Amino acid sequence: MTEQIQEADRARGSAVERLVMRGDGIARSHWHDAGAYGRCSYCGRYSDDIDCLDDGYLCNCDRRNGFCGSFKKPTVDSIWHDRPPKILHLNLKKKWFDMIFSGRKKEEYREVKPYWDKRLNRKYDIICFRNGYAKDAPEMLVELERIQCGLGISEWGAPQKQVYILRLGKILDA
Ligand SMILES: [Zn+2]
Repeated sequence: MTEQIQEADRARGSAVERLVMRGDGIARSHWHDAGAYGRCSYCGRYSDDIDCLDDGYLCNCDRRNGFCGSFKKPTVDSIWHDRPPKILHLNLKKKWFDMIFSGRKKEEYREVKPYWDKRLNRKYDIICFRNGYAKDAPEMLVELERIQCGLGISEWGAPQKQVYILRLGKILDA
């Protein structure tokens, strides 16, 4: 009986492990094997950052260009590279900067046009808002929850048409 329970516990344990295995959702592609996007040839860290095979990419071991797409599938014991957050830099007028800073404005808007299509068509974690272009212009770091398309709120500066809505999260640093 005890043995059966232990067996069931073990089965459950490994099922949970499988569920939370980092990199599990990454399928093999032309560029890399399954389970990660790359593995650092210097330190052996795996990466689930899709950009790790880019030229000049820096690993947590402080060496560049070490990531290779050919590797044995990571296991629960594997060590991982933690990518630095991706930051989108945007400039704001003082009015909007202050409103976001005070927590009264939770969205920022950008026009749907080729410039923004291109810039916003990638994954960012954080927005660095800057008010003005002076060297010592005020800055704040704000979490980016998601980017979607739609109609914004006019009190928050949205034009009356479809725009990119940048949903803001916590203010991280100002
Ligand atoms: Zn490394």
